[in-house]
Amino acid sequence: MQDCIFCQIVQGRIPADLVYEDESILAFKDIRPVAPVHILLITKKHIPSLSDVDNDEDARLIGKLHRAAVSAAGRAGVLGSGFRLVANCGKDAGQLVDHLHYHLLAGRSLQWPPG
Ligand code: 5GP
Ligand code: ZN
Repeated sequence: MQDCIFCQIVQGRIPADLVYEDESILAFKDIRPVAPVHILLITKKHIPSLSDVDNDEDARLIGKLHRAAVSAAGRAGVLGSGFRLVANCGKDAGQLVDHLHYHLLAGRSLQWPPG
């Protein structure tokens, strides 16, 4: 999608601080971190949100994102202290970028319930 920020990161047209890449997914540091570890994990394929995941191929990509998140948490050294994986879906969840992504948050004590 031409006007999608995350698609432009996938295409290398907008720079990002990459922490992982393979043929179908990408992970990079959030530009406005809200925790000491704040990594975004995205599919290279433009899927607008979790509510659009309706086939086996996309479900497999979600599984890959989860595995990549655990790997990234390991590389960040927070597997022992813990981490949170969040997907904001839609308006009430505060989704701002309409390209499916997970936030990996860690490195401090995270509040629950979220605001
Ligand atoms: P959402 O509210 O959609 O779940 O979160 C979108 C996230 O993307 C926000 O945390 C925001 O800081 C991050 N973000 C928005 N634009 C960019 C960008 O151009 N580069 C990076 N690295 N992060 C971005
Ligand atoms: Zn996109």
